[in-house]
Formats: sequence, C-alpha cells, structure tokens
Amino acid sequence: MKKQNFCYVEPKIKTNLFEIQQINGHEKLIFGEDKKSGLKIVLAIHNTTLGPSTGGTRMAFVSEETAVEEALRLSYAMTFKCAIIDEPFGGSKAVVIGDPSMPKSKEFLHALGDFIESLGGAFLTGVDMGLSLEDAKIIGERTKYIFNSKGCSGVTTAHGVLKGIKETVRYKLGRDNLKNTSIAVQGLGNVGGTLVDLLLAEEAKILVSDIDPSKTKKYSKVATVVSNDQIYSAECDVFAPCAVGEIINNKTIKKLRCKIIAGGANNQLKDETKHAEKLHKMGILHAPDFVINAGGVCHGMCEVKGVDISHAMEKTDLIPCILREIYDRSKKTNIPPLHVAYEIAYEKIQTKKK
Ligand code: NAD
Repeated sequence: MKKQNFCYVEPKIKTNLFEIQQINGHEKLIFGEDKKSGLKIVLAIHNTTLGPSTGGTRMAFVSEETAVEEALRLSYAMTFKCAIIDEPFGGSKAVVIGDPSMPKSKEFLHALGDFIESLGGAFLTGVDMGLSLEDAKIIGERTKYIFNSKGCSGVTTAHGVLKGIKETVRYKLGRDNLKNTSIAVQGLGNVGGTLVDLLLAEEAKILVSDIDPSKTKKYSKVATVVSNDQIYSAECDVFAPCAVGEIINNKTIKKLRCKIIAGGANNQLKDETKHAEKLHKMGILHAPDFVINAGGVCHGMCEVKGVDISHAMEKTDLIPCILREIYDRSKKTNIPPLHVAYEIAYEKIQTKKK
C-alpha cells in the first residue's frame, strides 16, 4: 500500500489481472466455480495484517469484470474500516455472479458454503445484497464461517451514523443538538429508515428521497419528500446518503447546497482523490463513509468474536471521537477528512506490523 493518500484507485479492468490485484495492494483475488450448480464467485482479500479477513458476500447480476471491480473496491474499504474502528480483522468481499431474484437451489447455496469452508477461516463472511438470512442458514449447513443470525446490522449502523452526524454538526455548525437542523436523507432502507426515526426523535427537520415510493410514503407526514434528483440540490445543513455508492460524482457535486455530508452509504465518492479535494475546497465537511458507518462492521464482528451484540452499540461511541480526531488533523494540515481517515487507519495497520 505505497500510495500518496491511500484513496482507492479504480483499476482499468481490461489490463492484466495480476496487475489489477496489485494496484491497491490486494493480497489475493480468488475465483470459484461449481459447474454443476452454476455457482460463480469472485473473492478479493485485501489485507490481513490485523487479522483474518472479513466482509460480506453479495449476489449481483453483473459481468465478471464488474464482479472483480466490486470485490476489489469493497474489500479495500473493509480493511480501512476494521482498522479505524480497532477491529482485529482484515478486509475482503465476495461477489456471486447471478440473478438474485431467481430462486436459489440448495445445491447452489451448498456449493457457496463449500467454497467459503474451503478457505479454512481466511474469509469470515455474512450475507449482503442479493442474499437473504434464509440463504445464510442453508449456506451455514456447509460452513462455520458465515455469520448472520443476530439481528439487523443496519440498526447498529444507523445509531453510529446519528452519533457521527451529531459530532459533525457540533464541529462545523457549533450546535449541541440537532433541533431544527435540516437533514436530507437519501435512501430509506435498513440504515436510512432507522436513521430518520432517530433524527425525528432529535427534532431535526427531515427531507427524504427513495426510488421506492412506498418507502417515502411512510414518511410523508413527518418529513418533506423530494425527488431523487432534488435531494442533491436541497438547501440543508446535512446531506445523509444512505442508499447506493458513488453518488458524489462530477454530475452531482456541482448541485450540492449542504454544509455537511454525513451518511451511512459505502463508497460515497466516485473518485476518492478528486471529489474529496473538491468537497474540501467547497467548504463542505464530509464525514468519511468508512468511519461513520463502521457500526455495521462492529455488529458483524460481535458474532464472529462470540460476544453480545450490545458491545457493537457501545463501540459506536468511538465514531464521534475518531471523527473529531480526523477533523482536527484535517484542519491543521488542510488535507480532506477522507484522506486523513485513510492515513490514520493506515498508521494503525503499520503499528500492528511492527
Ligand atoms: P437497503 O437495501 O435496506 O436500503 C437501501 C434503500 O435505498 C432502499 O430503500 C432503496 O430503495 C433505496 N435506494 C436505492 N437506490 C437509490 C437511489 N438512487 N436514490 C434513493 N434511494 C435509493 O440497504 P441498507 O442496508 O440500508 O444500506 C444502505 C447503504 O448503507 C448501502 O450503501 C450499504 O452498503 C451501506 N451500509 C450498510 C450497512 C448495514 O449494516 N446495513 C453497514 C454499513 C454500510
């Protein structure tokens, strides 16, 4: 990982696969196939300095190239997420290639379980997008390295995001509470929906958007519903992305009218080097995504470590402390907070190496 600011660099996937693996310092890129059941899986293990690798297994109807890209990018983020929140694990991510809306046979899920088991604990996983808790149970008939039974990690994530928003509002706007603070939440799923409920209890003024109208309808009496496009240009104190990644890009960054970006979505910036610099210059304080949403990984790790899930909620208390450290260093060095977050996580990994 000898890079200038440790931001993820998008590899040009057409080039040599061994080269692609090395661009961001990945340790392993593993391909699995079971012809009989139709299983095709790509697993990226980024860095195991802190411990065995962990990360979700998702299923998506994507090309082999996209599966490799997703696995590389998401496993990279996992390494830094575990490091920054002091979890003794490394980063990995698996992408199963296939249509998640089609019924999955027992044979298929067992083949997936066998693949995970064959790695002997080098990959500790849980189900992510496209795979359900029901699927996890069947996969678990073949491997002890899948974890998913202790409630919804989105709830723990949302509590961590709330603590992060409060700290960021305190830092940027000098407010001790969120009363009347305007917050635009994009995506009302497990994380975003829970976050809105928590923000309403704080008497914040909420704006919401979701591509699923049934989700926005639920909040239409207590929040202002805006379109999926309007959410970017909404004049507000905080924009909280809680849906898909890469939503801050060349097209959307020009529209922003918020003072803070702080939300639960992973990989919020399309180009982490360029867009973090731009937000910094625009005076928008961006809470680094892999810090503010680290509650989810703490949740998952409770199960791996065999401790009660309440430890994860307690651990989210670290999020505001880490964010403060990041903002202070960012102010002192004039380096964007995301780049500072990478630096701090990298320092933690290097300390463990010594
Ligand atoms: P989810 O699938 O429960 O919810 C996502 C919501 O976003 C859905 O309601 C969907 O309709 C909506 N959505 C999708 N595209 C959208 C768009 N373009 N504009 C507006 N809304 C859109 O997912 P989740 O578990 O709530 O996760 C949300 C985000 O948080 C993801 O980026 C995920 O990677 C990240 N995250 C989740 C966890 C967790 O524990 N669940 C932990 C860390 C990070």
